[in-house]
Amino acid sequence: MFVAGDKTHLPLPSVGRERLRSGTVKPEIMLDFHTHRPHPDSIFNLPSGKAVLSAYSEFKYISAGIHPWNTEAATIEDYKALGELAKDDRIVAIGECGIDKLRGAELDKQKAVFIAHVALSEQLHKPLIIHCVKAYQEILALKRDLTPAQTWVIHGFRGNGILAKQLLDKDIRLSFGEKFNPDALKAVGAENLLIETDDSETPIEEIAANIASHFEDYSPEQIMEIATANALAVIKKQDTEYM
Ligand SMILES: [Zn+2]
Repeated sequence: MFVAGDKTHLPLPSVGRERLRSGTVKPEIMLDFHTHRPHPDSIFNLPSGKAVLSAYSEFKYISAGIHPWNTEAATIEDYKALGELAKDDRIVAIGECGIDKLRGAELDKQKAVFIAHVALSEQLHKPLIIHCVKAYQEILALKRDLTPAQTWVIHGFRGNGILAKQLLDKDIRLSFGEKFNPDALKAVGAENLLIETDDSETPIEEIAANIASHFEDYSPEQIMEIATANALAVIKKQDTEYM
């Protein structure tokens, strides 16, 4: 299913202290890794259904996918439309997509829709933004079986530190929002953070400051800088506009 010769796993993009010292990213601008609330400094998740890119001309970075909650009604036509839409340069990630055992279609259909998103992510060389509810073992098994080359990010991660480690060990990245388990933050480490608002009304800066309060060695500005640089690295964009 996947493109041959594209299996090289790149090291996890991470900026760390070296990069911080060089001051390449403006700390006052924070790139929100995943949001449903339109604001320009974000990877904006296109609403499902008949959303058209032209309605969002002011957004540079957009993600598109079939949300697990919408899998019940999803048809092959929806998937074809997504495939066309996702070719656009402004679509920088595929998703959110994933598996939710509490909502959406029955498990087999959710899995099939998710696998279709993985295929798209691999074909278009764009990372995957994953919504996962009570389906971590399924996601891990699919990661093992499909051996994707593109980065997988589980967004809005609220699991514990043990689960975080298990996912990180399999090269799955985690993005944190308003609610999270501090042990999971520690397992990920400040250098690898991705931060998002999702559908929260709390500003991204406030969420970042809350996350920063769990790390002794980092100021909120540093955490914002790291998370912005990491988000840009995941979507394979230069940070020149954030300098
Ligand atoms: Zn979301």
